[in-house]
Amino acid sequence: MEPYIPISFLNDFIFCPRSIYFHQLYGGADTSLYHSGYQTAGRAAHKSVDTKTYTTAKNVLQSLEVYSVRYGIGGKIDTYDEKRMLLTERKKKIVTIYDGYIFQLYAQYHCLIEMDYEVRTLKLYSMDDNKSYSVLPPEANPMMHRKFEDMIMKMKTYRLTDSFVPNPNKCRHCIYSNLCDVSPC
Ligand code: SF4
Repeated sequence: MEPYIPISFLNDFIFCPRSIYFHQLYGGADTSLYHSGYQTAGRAAHKSVDTKTYTTAKNVLQSLEVYSVRYGIGGKIDTYDEKRMLLTERKKKIVTIYDGYIFQLYAQYHCLIEMDYEVRTLKLYSMDDNKSYSVLPPEANPMMHRKFEDMIMKMKTYRLTDSFVPNPNKCRHCIYSNLCDVSPC
């Protein structure tokens, strides 16, 4: 278990808190054993950032490890442009801007700020259709930021034994449904 909440878990937790447990269960297993085709495509799309070959521009930091003591979260950012003070999270294709996408950016933002980087602009980038979406920084959107903080608190206190009502629509699309004892599928 990591000593902090991985930023990548934020989206998973919104999808279903229990999915985090099953994700942990797979540990270091080859992701091809359990990732859906969609997830594999998403991962492949991130490859150039993960290998730091997305750009050769010296002012753009790629796949930087970041951490926030204040929130107990950590992980990697996609790209941070030091000149423009621009933090970007890339997705394979953005159809809807989910809260989870924004929370991932907020988490990265807080980590960078704590590490003494200045962040003025946040952006989501949809790779398949080359579209960018601006996201207000946390201080300009207090309601969303409160939701982010509430979710971090829930993640820290969640227990698998907590009472839970599964959502069959989610379970149907969940890669862990064959392992999950509350799944109706
Ligand atoms: S099968 Fe359903 S309840 Fe179980 S982890 Fe997946 S979404 Fe959650």
